Amino acid sequence: MKIVETRAKSIISRMRDGFFSMRYLPFRLTANIYRGCSHGCVYCYAACTHYYMRSSPNLFSKEIYVKKNAPEIFEKEIAKYEQRKRKSVIVIGNISDTYQPVETNYRLTRKLLEICYKHDFPCFIETKSPLILNDIDIIEKLAERELIGVGMTVTSYDNEFTRLVEPLVPRSKFVRSPIRQKERILTLQRLSEIGVDTYLHITPYFPFVTDEDVERIIRDAAEAGVGNVIMAPLEISGFIWNRLKKVFKSSERYSSLIPLYEKRYFESGRKLGARITTSEKEHYKLEKKVSELCKKYGIGYWAFNNPQFNTAVISGAYRLRYPILLDYWKLTHEKGRLRLKDALQFAMNFPVDKKYLSALQEYFLNGELFKGVYGVRKIVENCEVVYVPA
Ligand code: SF4
Repeated sequence: MKIVETRAKSIISRMRDGFFSMRYLPFRLTANIYRGCSHGCVYCYAACTHYYMRSSPNLFSKEIYVKKNAPEIFEKEIAKYEQRKRKSVIVIGNISDTYQPVETNYRLTRKLLEICYKHDFPCFIETKSPLILNDIDIIEKLAERELIGVGMTVTSYDNEFTRLVEPLVPRSKFVRSPIRQKERILTLQRLSEIGVDTYLHITPYFPFVTDEDVERIIRDAAEAGVGNVIMAPLEISGFIWNRLKKVFKSSERYSSLIPLYEKRYFESGRKLGARITTSEKEHYKLEKKVSELCKKYGIGYWAFNNPQFNTAVISGAYRLRYPILLDYWKLTHEKGRLRLKDALQFAMNFPVDKKYLSALQEYFLNGELFKGVYGVRKIVENCEVVYVPA
């Protein structure tokens, strides 16, 4: 593996207010210390970001760029957001796992957490790595002030499948289980016990594979005290499909997935930007099933595509977030109708900026905000666009 030390000009990025972020992402600020991720997941959506480094997605797991000056730049940028009174949850490591093994040497994520603590800045970490427990002391301090959320991904309890699709995610030295991915639930348990806002990410949900274990995964997460579940079905690009096919082919047990996925994705799936995902009907069935399991075991479910299934309790670091489709859906049902001025007024209760408000106006008026969403209908009343419960 090649480690390349670099110096960054900026660490915090503000995401674009596109269709996807307006509907589903409760954050806009992200910080990535590492570019590239040695976990080597074959379904990684971020591998293509290596083009920005003038490199190849095939090298995403073999060539890690380390922004050595990340803490000093991060602190300056955080201070600017503070001055402008624009503190909102910042996701650390959204395009490379911030707790990949290289973190053990550099400890840059830890430094960012210390800065968040110093400035009372809320943060969220999504990881597959048990190394997060190395920083349990600072995480506990952040949790005492409700400034941190952690999401961990669990998609299958089958060790053979895990080795195929996530070959290089390290095992835990803190919590052990014969089931590799169950160690992540045990890690979330440790974090929940010290008051961290925890999320189980069933992302991506692998059709025909996650089906086998999803009930046990949700039950175990509920018993571990995890706060909410988030689920999204696998999305496939040409690059990802070539890699998946290669690993499926190498396994006697999983090679039968190739024709099943070809049918599910290439014959009956739908386009989502540059990727293909399962049909709306399949997605609906999946959200319904996962939400029913969450209800059965008493754990919240943060539904994105079908807000009627939502039972999530949004708290902790996500108090300072951006509103999403789910919020406007709820508001429409609570008020019986939603006008643009109500939506804008509602958004002002969150730490949103001007860019967000103008995007909200655009997506509200062109109908994209609720497009294809159950239970809401667009009408025009006195020349004004209004949404009402359907
Ligand atoms: S952990 Fe995340 S960023 Fe890293 S390879 Fe896997 S999917 Fe990609």
